[in-house]
Formats: sequence, C-alpha cells, structure tokens
Amino acid sequence: MTPSDAQAQIQDLRRQLQSLLEAAHANERKLDRFDALERRLVAVSSMEELVNLLLVDCRADFGLDAAELWLLDPDGELSRALPSLPMVKAPQLLDNHGPLKDIFGAARTTRLIGPGHDEALLRKAFDPQATVRSAALLPLIRQGLLIGSLHFGANDPERYDAASGTKFLDRLSAIAAIAIESMLNRERLRRAGMTDGLTGVHNRRYFDHRSLIEFSQAVRHRYPLACLFLDIDHFKAINDGHGHPAGDEVLRQVGGLIQRSLRTGDLAARYGGEEFVVLLPRTDLAGAREVAERIRQMVQEAPFVMPEGGTVSATLSAGLAMLSSDATSFAELLSAADRALYEAKRAGRNRTIADTEGETA
Ligand code: GH3
Ligand code: MG
Ligand code: MG
Repeated sequence: MTPSDAQAQIQDLRRQLQSLLEAAHANERKLDRFDALERRLVAVSSMEELVNLLLVDCRADFGLDAAELWLLDPDGELSRALPSLPMVKAPQLLDNHGPLKDIFGAARTTRLIGPGHDEALLRKAFDPQATVRSAALLPLIRQGLLIGSLHFGANDPERYDAASGTKFLDRLSAIAAIAIESMLNRERLRRAGMTDGLTGVHNRRYFDHRSLIEFSQAVRHRYPLACLFLDIDHFKAINDGHGHPAGDEVLRQVGGLIQRSLRTGDLAARYGGEEFVVLLPRTDLAGAREVAERIRQMVQEAPFVMPEGGTVSATLSAGLAMLSSDATSFAELLSAADRALYEAKRAGRNRTIADTEGETA
C-alpha cells in the first residue's frame, strides 16, 4: 500500500465515521423529541389538550404536513361531547370498525406507506386536500381492542418508507392509546358525576354548582334570570296504576322532552323524585312563561309510549320566578319558584303560575 492509498483509506474512514456520528446525533434528537412528546402525553389534563397535542403540536414538532386522529365511537358518546370542546382540529369519529380494518387488517401493527404504494389508502387516511406522499399509520390499541388510529403524513415521499424501523412510532402509539383511554375514562366519570342516571339530564349536585355561577353572572351583568320548577302531577297514581317501571319511563321521557325544549346555555336538572328545575339566563318573564307553557303542553299532549307497549299520559305543573334585582342569594329565587309551584298545584295542577312576590314577576 502506497502512502497515498493509506491517505485515501483514512479519508474514507473519516467520512464513514462522520456520517455515523451524524446519524447518531439525528437519532438522539429524534429520541429527545419523542421523549418530550411522551412526557406531555402522560401529563395532559383534558380531552382537548390531548387532541391538540396529537394533531397540532405533533405536526409542528415533527415537521409533518398532515396529522389525523380517528377514534372509534360506536355509542355516539364522543360525538356528543366533542363539539363543545375548544379544539383547533377535531378527531374523526367512527361509528364502526370498518375504516380501521381497511388500514390495519388483522395485523394491527404500524403501517409505513412510501411513494407509489397504497395511494388510495393515503387519500382515505388524510384530508382529501392534503398532498401526502408518504405516511405512518399507527394503530391505537387498548386491552387488545383497536380503539382508533393516528396518522402522520409528509409531502416528502422519502419521509416514511416501508423498510424503515417503527420502534419509536410503536412506542408512541402505545402511549397515545393509554393517554386517550384514560382521558375517555376520566371524561366518562366526570359526566356520570353530573348526570342523573335515569333521565340523562343533569343531577342536583351539578345544578347546585352551576346555579351559583348563573346567579352571580346574572347579578354582575344585570340580565334577567328565570327559574322554573316542574313537577309531574299525581305521579304517585301513575306508579300505582301502571307500575314503577312505567313511572320511570315517563320520568325519562319528560326529562328528554324538557331538555329538547331548551336552548344552549339554559340549564335543566332533575331536582329530586319527579321534580325538575330549569334555569333560563337572559330570559324575561314572558319568555320564561312561554318555555314553561310549551313544556307543559307537550307533556299534556304526549302519549308516553311504553317499551312493552301501551301508552301512559301525564301532566305537570310549573312554578316560575324571576331573579329580583335586590336578591341576595340564589336560594331566594329557588324558593320563590317553589312557592309558585305550590300555588299551581293548589289551583288545580296542569298549569303554570308565576311567583308574584318577586319584583319583576
Ligand atoms: P302532586 O301532583 O301533588 O305532585 O302529586 P304526586 O303524586 O306527583 O306527588 P307525591 O310527592 O305524593 O309523589 C311523588 C311520587 O314520585 C312518590 C315517589 O314514589 C315517586 N317517585 C320518586 N322518584 C321516582 C322514580 O325515580 N321513579 C318512579 N317510578 N317513581 C318515583
Ligand atoms: Mg308530583
Ligand atoms: Mg314532587
């Protein structure tokens, strides 16, 4: 070997070493990014924070061109909860397993899609406007069940190719699945804690909490606040005549009917037994009377259809009160509405009576 051959070999070895070092540094940076993301994933405290982290922050941190989250939602639980949450980009909710099966088949492992492969799948997995050329599709699995998928897409056709390793991505999808599941459980618990199990409307505990907020806002911003107490007439006779399960069914349907007759921002709760309470912020006496009468008439006209056949009819009485300008506590409003309800019962039931002691009523 001549000295110049040796020189050339050393040069070559240096270059190889340099490129190995660069690869090692790049891997370390990648590991740091994944590590930071995992730490944030396990620390999120709300559903919207989790979704924003997976779809917005991930995209920025990893220099992706597209990110999508699909979540299985067969009972429509998420589709009811998500619209009210402040999210920059919402997950796509699936009412069945079909789309997940199309991606993962029976294997249920991370899929890397390079250029020229599965273009139809790329179009399905991302927004049709995205110009994704390569992608990583991550299955989200909890307790052996596929609960959704996370899609990372790049316009760069070389970004993901089928031959690359998926170790980091597999780990990320496992942690994302745990974070999603625990968030869903937390959300379920939170909802169960504020919902009445029989009727699905809010429970007394939630009402007690929310009513204080509504009261102080109405006082501070000086807008009218109406309170309705609605009590089913002779409910005991319904139970006695048709059985307790029929009574339950009437309660359930009356709850649904009340809920559907309100606007966003109104608050309905089951106050106890066969009694519901409704708060109508920014609603004057005439408006509140209209709401109460509408509910009363709907109940009066409804044939409550029983699951095992037959119908039951019912009526209800409503007591209405307006927050007075000199009110010092929410309890005053509540007892004024209760007093009015008592009057409605005394006057013969199936009617709405407004409390007349309140200054604006
Ligand atoms: P009024 O017109 O004066 O309101 O008469 P009422 O019979 O409706 O009132 P009362 O307070 O005498 O009876 C209420 C009944 O509601 C008694 C109770 O057994 C029944 N009840 C309370 N909670 C439930 C429930 O969850 N399911 C059923 N089926 N009945 C309930
Ligand atoms: Mg009653
Ligand atoms: Mg009652």
